[in-house]
Amino acid sequence: MAEKRDYYEVLGVGKDASKDDIKRAYRRLAKQFHPDANKSPEAEGKFKEVSEAYEVLADEGKRATYDQFGHAGVSQAFSGGGFSWNDFTHFGDIEDLFGGEFFGRNIFDVFFGGAHRASQEGPARGEDLRYDTEITLEEAYSGVERDIRFPRTEVCETCSGSGAKPGTSPKPCPACGGAGRVRKEQRTPFGFFATVMACGKCGGKGSTIEAPCKDCKGSGKVVADRTIHIKIPEGVASGSHLRLHAEGEAGAHGGTSGDLYVVIHVKPHAFFERVSDDLVCQIPVSFSQAALGAEVEVPTISGKARLKVPAGTQTHTVFRLKGEGMPHLRGRGRGDQHVRVVVETPKKLSADARKLLEQLRELEKKQERGLFERLKDTLGGG
Ligand code: ZN
Repeated sequence: MAEKRDYYEVLGVGKDASKDDIKRAYRRLAKQFHPDANKSPEAEGKFKEVSEAYEVLADEGKRATYDQFGHAGVSQAFSGGGFSWNDFTHFGDIEDLFGGEFFGRNIFDVFFGGAHRASQEGPARGEDLRYDTEITLEEAYSGVERDIRFPRTEVCETCSGSGAKPGTSPKPCPACGGAGRVRKEQRTPFGFFATVMACGKCGGKGSTIEAPCKDCKGSGKVVADRTIHIKIPEGVASGSHLRLHAEGEAGAHGGTSGDLYVVIHVKPHAFFERVSDDLVCQIPVSFSQAALGAEVEVPTISGKARLKVPAGTQTHTVFRLKGEGMPHLRGRGRGDQHVRVVVETPKKLSADARKLLEQLRELEKKQERGLFERLKDTLGGG
């Protein structure tokens, strides 16, 4: 542990500061470092340090002891790592500073349960759930409805979430009288000091269950299979998700349920590649089709279309079929289909085809144009 800082230094006030100065400094710093408002890792420690300094300096007797003996004079009040109060002297100050509650949680949560764990359990929202589902590109094109089934935590119907056997109810904890916290008084050379901590018997809940519900064994929650019907809209992209409000895990102590996120994965397609809302595909054409022009049938995501390949088409030319792509998820219309035409060289030739190609070769020879000349044409240098 590092050396304790001087309480006046912690609050940034002088040794002659008035009660009002100290109060003002405390309010400013407590707001600045409150762990719910300040997410930096040192905020909680600072907040406790500020509160401890104020606890001492706001009390005339303790301030006098501190002025005379320093930390040694008041340290017993803070020994044991817990936080101590002298009869809640400035409890009211903190309460009115934050309107009685620290952003919805009981003040004891902050001091005794740590900044992020409630010691006295209030309503808590349930966890969000994630469900992954796979659809085909055709389903993404047309939209699809399906039932999904998944396990989730639900409020136990038998006991309505109380955890107590039907006909019985949770009783106030006898150890803390239902408060969820206990106060211990300690006699020190400087007077009585009270320490408040979460009740060990009920774990801070404030209630105990004598006869636990058989279905949930007292937890108030059961795991059940849930089936829900979902509608995946047309045009959905891989990796996008649907958020289903309150279909996640049940909350605790009357808290709302979490949400369900359905993450959609679109399977890769054998023929189409999706680029945004456009679809890209490749079709083979023969040399004669490319040279003479042809009308060819092209598969589309919803059926088929006819594509006019003009005479003299070079291999790898891309043609566009307007509006044959994926529907736009938001808004009207669709993307396009891009068809890349690849001229195929025959691997096997029939006798007739061979004869025709040999004739073509003779014709090309008669044109008496060499490779160099033809390259010049291709490069646009002719
Ligand atoms: Zn139950």
